[in-house]
Amino acid sequence: AKYSFDVIIVGAGMAGIMAANTLSEAGIDDFVILEATDRIGGRMREADFAGKRIELGANWVEGVNETTTNPIWELANKHKLRMFYSNFDNLSSNIYTQDGHFANKLGDIYMKKLDDSSEWIESLGIKKSQSNSADISVFTAQRIYGKVPSTPVEMVLDYYNYDYEFAEPPRVTSLKNTQPNPTFHNFGDSNFLVADQRGYSYLVQKLAEEFLDSKDGVITDPRLKLNTVVNNIRYSKNGVKVGTEGGKSYKAKYVIVTVSLGVLQSGLIKFIPPFPDWKIEALSEFDMAVYTKIFLKFPYKFWPSNGPLTEFMLYADEHRGYYPVWQHLENEYPGANVMFVTVTDDESRRIEQQPPNETIEEVHEVLKNMFGPSVPKPIDILVPKWFSNRFFGGSFSNWPIGVESYEFERIQAPLKGALYFSGEHTHEHYNGYVHGAYYSGIDAANRLLACKKEGKCIDEVPQAPP
Ligand code: FAD
Repeated sequence: AKYSFDVIIVGAGMAGIMAANTLSEAGIDDFVILEATDRIGGRMREADFAGKRIELGANWVEGVNETTTNPIWELANKHKLRMFYSNFDNLSSNIYTQDGHFANKLGDIYMKKLDDSSEWIESLGIKKSQSNSADISVFTAQRIYGKVPSTPVEMVLDYYNYDYEFAEPPRVTSLKNTQPNPTFHNFGDSNFLVADQRGYSYLVQKLAEEFLDSKDGVITDPRLKLNTVVNNIRYSKNGVKVGTEGGKSYKAKYVIVTVSLGVLQSGLIKFIPPFPDWKIEALSEFDMAVYTKIFLKFPYKFWPSNGPLTEFMLYADEHRGYYPVWQHLENEYPGANVMFVTVTDDESRRIEQQPPNETIEEVHEVLKNMFGPSVPKPIDILVPKWFSNRFFGGSFSNWPIGVESYEFERIQAPLKGALYFSGEHTHEHYNGYVHGAYYSGIDAANRLLACKKEGKCIDEVPQAPP
């Protein structure tokens, strides 16, 4: 044969495994999957902390309870993942300021204001989409509404509503493409936290076992090549040649690239010929956001924990986004004395770079503000480094103001009928989520199959509608 393989898949996260799974179901088994790290799962990744296996990356099945079923919810139930409903109902009673606990009644008033404003903003998003008017940021919508959050409590509620979901502030985030959020709108607004000792990535493992040889839960199939860092891809309508840091090269008719938007933006992989300007512009315009869960172990439990209504806590600092959203894991792992705090964006980048001991000091000060001076210091800390990890370059994509649908399509548009793009950042409605990655793998494989089997090979620049 002229080619070593039919298809090369770069990346073994949810998207790459689903792409290969789809090809395999269509009868194409002559592929190889090249993965930079020593495992499959990508941003679904567990780690050992405080004697438990916790999730560094994706943690929730997001979007549950509507009539349309989230495919990840289906998979998680099929494989009996241990999951916990996340109850945010009582959040207005769990607000803390720099001076300690915040009056419940006032919390309710603020929460009501937040609900009113976000409802209004969602309906503006729908109106703007339906009338095809130009996009604005969520922040601009807040200004039009006439209430821009300004006090620490208003800011932390605003943070919880937007940054905690999109990992970027409302100033950056597109109104039309996130309000309402298609995930909650289509699948339902419930979220379930995965707390399973096999890891959330067990789902990717199971999808891989459907088409790759394995023994006792270990994939033995030679078509999966771990520890293989791709650093160049030559592509033309006659085929592709993929080179690795170890100097190996693989030839095929097609390649599906599933690496994150952060990796594509970083230039880790050199594409030959270089991407056309329209592709470079689209990839550069979209945002790779950063979302960090900082895990903390304490010598004993000092936070209120009577049932699920105390699980989530907000800390309202004068500096927006300073250690804002707290969650204890007492329901999931009683007695482990573990909490985690979520930071995003600039705070994520700052904290990733600083020594863990400094982060412990900062966190301790915050907790003293929240619970009083006798709060113990954390005895262990884990700060995931999604931003500085060159195989990720951030946590997930966020749709920024200024990117139209046709420009978004340019991110995933195939080149020369040979080079295909997949990954969470290529899914128009569910970018940023596990289910987005899942669907994007199926979509890229189907586009490739249409080319291979029916000669319908796309090599066009998506254009603005007239
Ligand atoms: P990836 O998982 O990134 O897979 C791409 C693979 O390519 C990786 O395995 C990578 O190692 C590999 N790779 C990179 N560069 C190279 C190279 N040069 N050569 C070879 N291989 C390479 N989603 C939810 O639905 N719910 C959540 O609660 C949630 N929370 C999140 C929290 C965090 C902190 C993070 C980081 C993500 C979260 N997400 C969440 C998003 C979700 O994890 C991702 O959308 C999804 O896992 C992405 O899958 P993917 O296959 O597109 O990309």
